[in-house]
Amino acid sequence: MTLVRLTGVSKHYGNVIALREVSMDVAAGEVVCVLGDNGAGKSTLIKIVAGLHRHDSGTYEVAGEPVAFGSPREALDRGIATVYQDLAVVPLMPVWRNFFLGSEKRRGIGRLDIPYMRRETRDALLNMGIDLRDVDQPIGTLSGGERQCVAIARAVYFGAKVLILDEPTAALGVKQAGVVLRYIVRAREQGIGVIFITHNPHHAYPVGDRFLVLKRGRSIGYHPKSEITVADLTALMSGGAELEELAHELERESAEG
Ligand code: ADP
Repeated sequence: MTLVRLTGVSKHYGNVIALREVSMDVAAGEVVCVLGDNGAGKSTLIKIVAGLHRHDSGTYEVAGEPVAFGSPREALDRGIATVYQDLAVVPLMPVWRNFFLGSEKRRGIGRLDIPYMRRETRDALLNMGIDLRDVDQPIGTLSGGERQCVAIARAVYFGAKVLILDEPTAALGVKQAGVVLRYIVRAREQGIGVIFITHNPHHAYPVGDRFLVLKRGRSIGYHPKSEITVADLTALMSGGAELEELAHELERESAEG
């Protein structure tokens, strides 16, 4: 089932065209990677999907219905959740408190149901394969990778169908990035549609089902895994494909000339 579909979507900021007729779609249980260098349009794309910005033209559909979200809340209500790189957590508060931040469970008037929230947090994390014995520890004591995983588990627990992950591995070492990548696979196994933003083809390739490569706001490749190798992705990203094409053209011209 297709959860999210963008067709020919464009967006400009003043004179800058940030996205130019970009199309992509995400189905349940699928990881779509969006790759590109700085300024490629990745953030603009996810801000549109997440309801932070509106597209200028083209169509954006959720479960087959055209939408134009006015706020991230509206997107969230349709099951589209975003986990940003700089997570909004309260470092000194326990893991369970951060997990339920803004959605606290109460017993009667005002009183927090702490045992319930502790239990649910532990179970939700276990369900996604994180065995965190102590959910009372301040979230600030977890590693960056673990914090990302808690944020992903949280979005899934609160009903996300589509998860947008904004450079979740960018600030992490190899081991921690591995923790998050495993977690992305877990989310996919649970039937979540994942949009994984990264500029690292080596992080994208092992977990991705499809790959959208953006360059200066344009789509320069949109391929299922069966059609593309990690070397192709790297070449596309670095502009190697363009250089190769130019080299071929020059060869042809000099052969002809
Ligand atoms: P990426 O996330 O791939 O680095 P962005 O979507 O942030 O790319 O940026 C795409 C283009 O749009 C860039 O040229 C950037 O400078 C421009 N841009 C992004 N946000 C704004 C904004 N709020 N106002 C003006 N220009 C912007």
